[in-house]
Amino acid sequence: MFKFTYNYIEEQYKQVKEMGYKFITCEEYVKKKSILKASDKVVVNRVDVDLSVKKTKKLLAIFDKLDIKATFFLRLHAPEYNPFSFENYKIIKYLIESGHELGYHSEVIDQSVIWNEDAKDCLLRDIDVVNRMFNIQIRGIASHGGMTGLNNLDFWKDKKASDFGLLYEAYDHQPEFNLFQEAFYVSDSEWTRWKAYNKGKLLQDDRRSFAEHAKDGHSLMNVLIHPDTYYTDHFYENEK
Ligand SMILES: [Zn+2]
Repeated sequence: MFKFTYNYIEEQYKQVKEMGYKFITCEEYVKKKSILKASDKVVVNRVDVDLSVKKTKKLLAIFDKLDIKATFFLRLHAPEYNPFSFENYKIIKYLIESGHELGYHSEVIDQSVIWNEDAKDCLLRDIDVVNRMFNIQIRGIASHGGMTGLNNLDFWKDKKASDFGLLYEAYDHQPEFNLFQEAFYVSDSEWTRWKAYNKGKLLQDDRRSFAEHAKDGHSLMNVLIHPDTYYTDHFYENEK
């Protein structure tokens, strides 16, 4: 009846894998970019944990089953979840231990306005907190688009990821990354339909799925999905 089930997204990834695509994390992309060839078929696999760590566990099970790695971007200030809750912390720890990359899903502009604090200080503190929480060194940031009407990406207009000891910001235009401008990008961010950009340019009204686009044989793809989009039977199955 409904499209965006866990079975559906598993099937999408399975099909793309069977087409010969290799899945890599954002960090791996930075490290391998210079040796990627036009004949390669690569998917940079990104997951933004916007609303639910619990649902993230479901995606982890799918990726582990298919032997696929991803970069998961975690929020620290979400009203919807506590990354330090017993179950959520356990899930994120498992994510890291099973070889996925954890990045930070930043809301620095929102923080700086709501708290009247310096955005740069907020970010440095957040990076430090994530690193200490999980005893890791995060390598990347993706900016979250929330409900404040502010754009957290604006923070990066006059700053570089390397200023913060990082390798990338997910929409970074710097030559070392520049993924959005160079890849075929497909995302589930509209919840009930796919959205695609070819090398930074929106494909108007193109609602083909991740796997349908992969059939075109793009050498470099960037997929962005959100755990919140998926369900077993229907969207409201976990209502409180
Ligand atoms: Zn987000």
